[in-house]
Amino acid sequence: MPCTVIRRSFDRRRFVRGAASASFALIAAPALVRYAAAQAWKADPFSLGVASGTPRADGFVLWTRLAPEPLSSNPETPGGMSGGDVGIRYEIATDDAMKSIVRRGSATAEQAFGYSVHLDVGGLEPNRPYWYRFLSGEASSAVGRAMTLPAPGSAVDQLRFGYVSCSNYEHGYFAAYRHLADEDPQFVIFLGDYIYEYVDEVHPTVRRHSDGVEAATLPTYRNRYAQYRLDPDLQHLHAQAPSILTWDDHEVQNDYADKYSEFFADPEQFLLRRAAAYQAFYEHMPVRPILSRPNGPLMRVYDRFVLGDLLEISVIDGRQYRSREACYRPPDKGGGHLETNAGCPERRDPGRTMIGFDQEAWLYSGLARSKAKWNVIAQDVLMAQLTEKLDGVDAFWTDDWDGYPANRSRLLQHIHDAKVSNPVVVSGDIHSFLANDLKLDFDDQASPIVATEFVGTSISSYGPPYDLIAKALPDNPHIHFFESRRRGYVAIDLKPARMQVRMRTVSDAHDPKATISTLKTYVVESGRPGVVEA
Ligand code: FE
Ligand code: CA
Repeated sequence: MPCTVIRRSFDRRRFVRGAASASFALIAAPALVRYAAAQAWKADPFSLGVASGTPRADGFVLWTRLAPEPLSSNPETPGGMSGGDVGIRYEIATDDAMKSIVRRGSATAEQAFGYSVHLDVGGLEPNRPYWYRFLSGEASSAVGRAMTLPAPGSAVDQLRFGYVSCSNYEHGYFAAYRHLADEDPQFVIFLGDYIYEYVDEVHPTVRRHSDGVEAATLPTYRNRYAQYRLDPDLQHLHAQAPSILTWDDHEVQNDYADKYSEFFADPEQFLLRRAAAYQAFYEHMPVRPILSRPNGPLMRVYDRFVLGDLLEISVIDGRQYRSREACYRPPDKGGGHLETNAGCPERRDPGRTMIGFDQEAWLYSGLARSKAKWNVIAQDVLMAQLTEKLDGVDAFWTDDWDGYPANRSRLLQHIHDAKVSNPVVVSGDIHSFLANDLKLDFDDQASPIVATEFVGTSISSYGPPYDLIAKALPDNPHIHFFESRRRGYVAIDLKPARMQVRMRTVSDAHDPKATISTLKTYVVESGRPGVVEA
């Protein structure tokens, strides 16, 4: 959104994969793991709550992070913890009172990852809720609800999910997260800007990033996540619904691209910062360790989720692998900026990529193979072309897909050629609702619509000036709706024959008790790409 360290010891202790039974699985706990059975916690070690995520038909990842002092400023004692790995216990039940336990065992809070726990659970039944909690000594976490997905290929008549982006803690409260939890979604997709690294010195703020500094190191990124996770509405949402996750720029730094900083930092130095940021993301998110455990500045988040015969979701990483911003040049063109075709031919260079050629290949082959009736591509930034004006000449923003039009054309052409069934793109970043037809050629009125895009507004981050973009809409007939003045999320009700899209807005993001309402409802009919107002 336009806003005008490396160390690794892969100390994998993969004991207790919950493979076996419901018995206490004290299989050969490594000697270094301390068990806290006799440990008297002076403060709640589960202050950051619990989360489930990356759901599969037979399981999910359960997350917590031990943090009796969640905002500890001592970098040597993250969350108030010290010493080696800590063993804790977990329980999984088929009821919310935790009476019918189907699995219990031990999990490791890893020192190397801020005493976070990523428990990858398998062997469960598809398409049903489970409840879980963590235990250590006398301490018990909140009870969270996880959900397995319908078995691949099984018949699914309907499902509900939501997606969210851009929750700047300083710009507002997270009532939108609470209202989404209350809609009982089967899962929630986080599209990025889950935290904001910077401290806002310009706009009005309702609460402050507690340390008062821009996050740029592992301890400062950790503290940012910890502060967000202390928010009761966000904690509630994570405890209530599984997460599917990707990131955008503010998990690291505004408008970064691969190793290129908006502020022209030395790329190798910037990679050290990115490594710290990615590690903190890993430490706080219910992602699968086998896929996402970071390796220095590299961390895989792109992934695919199959829900019966109804839906396949491709979750994309739009930051880690992208080409440097087009026409990147000091002193002020390091991040997103407007460029005309004449002023910046590089923007349209076919050698440029938004998601990296490996991820492109992965995405295209997955879409081609998908057997699902609906195919959602979940990713960070606006995909539709948005033609603006620079000194009266057509111009395009370089930080979203308009900065990578060749990649966008390759993707949309592939969707068209492979006859991908009901492709829908869901996006964040721009702090605005948009409903867009995605066309093979945006400049040709006769060009076919090949997919539909719905951009969700921010949870709390301020939107761009409404008039600035509203006045560009006549030049962008494929954009059916734009609204930057409201905060909220998007809720989707999906059936084989149609997708219903509700744009949900809070009454006032500065009010922690804000109410919720529906601003607009759209549908997409099966077999007919494009926005239809309900
Ligand atoms: Fe944002
Ligand atoms: Ca962003």
